[in-house]
Amino acid sequence: MTDPQITRQRARTKVVATIGPACETKEQLAALVHAGVDVFRLNMAHAGPSEQQKHVDNIRALSNELDQPIAILADLAGPKIRLGELPNDRIYCNLGSEFVFVAGDGSATTNELTCTYEPLVDEVQVGDRIMLADGTVSMEVVRKERDRAYTIVVQRGSIRSRQGINLPSTKLSAPALSAADYEHAVWAAKTGIDFVGLSFVRAPQDVQFLKDLLKSNRSTSKVVAKIEKREALERLEEIITIADAVMVARGDLGVEIDVAQMPLEQKRIIAMCHRFQKPVIIATQMLDSMQDSPRPTRAEATDVANAILDGADACMLSGETAIGHYPLEAVEMMNRIALATETAFRSRPPKLPDNAFSQLQAITRAVVRAAGQMAHDLDAKLVFVASHSGRTALALSQHRSYIPTLGISTSEATLRQMCLYWGVTPLRGAPARDLPELIQHADRYACEEGYAIKGDRIVIVGGSHLAAGPDREDMASGVHDILLVHQIEGSAVV
Ligand code: PEP
Repeated sequence: MTDPQITRQRARTKVVATIGPACETKEQLAALVHAGVDVFRLNMAHAGPSEQQKHVDNIRALSNELDQPIAILADLAGPKIRLGELPNDRIYCNLGSEFVFVAGDGSATTNELTCTYEPLVDEVQVGDRIMLADGTVSMEVVRKERDRAYTIVVQRGSIRSRQGINLPSTKLSAPALSAADYEHAVWAAKTGIDFVGLSFVRAPQDVQFLKDLLKSNRSTSKVVAKIEKREALERLEEIITIADAVMVARGDLGVEIDVAQMPLEQKRIIAMCHRFQKPVIIATQMLDSMQDSPRPTRAEATDVANAILDGADACMLSGETAIGHYPLEAVEMMNRIALATETAFRSRPPKLPDNAFSQLQAITRAVVRAAGQMAHDLDAKLVFVASHSGRTALALSQHRSYIPTLGISTSEATLRQMCLYWGVTPLRGAPARDLPELIQHADRYACEEGYAIKGDRIVIVGGSHLAAGPDREDMASGVHDILLVHQIEGSAVV
């Protein structure tokens, strides 16, 4: 039976939900936020800016009404290759039968296939695999002629028009961003999207290109590198170093590499993200059966729990919320599994990250480490951090401390980015003019929201510029060099 106390709480693990026909109205989106969604994902492969803008407007309006930051992730399609039109929309591919990929738009016979990637016929080599229908059908290239690549079916099954094609063993020359991706990225920048997902990343330069494009359009949007190609796994460290966040995009990754290898790769990606202090999202089929059932399978519940125990910052729902019959139940279930799993972190000491990979200034780094340790040792009820850029809140989140972290900022963009940081609750903060005011604010909030009662301790991380008074430009720029323990309704002990 569900513990009612648990269902009302919000998990520390963040929930990303994909928008689709099953959750399009503002009311449906509001229900999902109440159930635990922190970030909404717009799949740009399915609809362009003109259709997605209404979701952005709804989410922003909702965020204001609920006085709660809600982030948006625009997921660019990337160089996804799709089959062309098939006669009668569907063909069954028998084992050993021959299919020919032809350049151009039109297929003359039933065994001729076309696709959206013009150079495919040139770039595949004899011996390469062509995977179709989410990896269920596989063809091997056996012969090439000018404008034709002959294949034999080595794994049989049904294929349909416009389904995705994966070429795990072919080096593709396609640019990281198609013309449509470029246009979508510029829209994302201009409309203030918080995260932009880059599909089929192959090299760190792909990520850098998108970062530069967003920046040149005056965007503070963060780039999420989707790891779904073997090439990305080969250059994982370089890609993670450059990316702002990472997604283990298991839908395509599980076709591009042997699915049996994927679980260990997922763990390797999570571990490396922790080393470089980058948030990581685990995506695809987490609660897949909930598209048609109000309950997940045991294996799915275990998959979510294991991802959290391994260190995922966020778990993503795709078809479950976009086209499923139980979008609300799927979010509630994700939240419940996360809450139940996170109790494993309850008495654990903070997981202090390796300083060598921190991008924080030396003083801030030391303060953040000490804050985690202090909060644990003193059984603090809350860690309160004033964070202008969100970097300090992110660093605290990496401790995976069970003690909730409150990230207070005056920057809406920063607050929305905190929606992806494990264990961090973003809080819109009226600028504190000085340190006593910040303490007062933290004290009041901790009591009002039920985090602490008289006599409890909370840990506050801030910057000494606060102590300089109201003349300072903002409350949290610069180095974080203040760490204090505050006893609720008691005196501050530095
Ligand atoms: C994936 O492949 O798992 C993924 C999230 O990307 P998309 O849904 O764009 O295929």
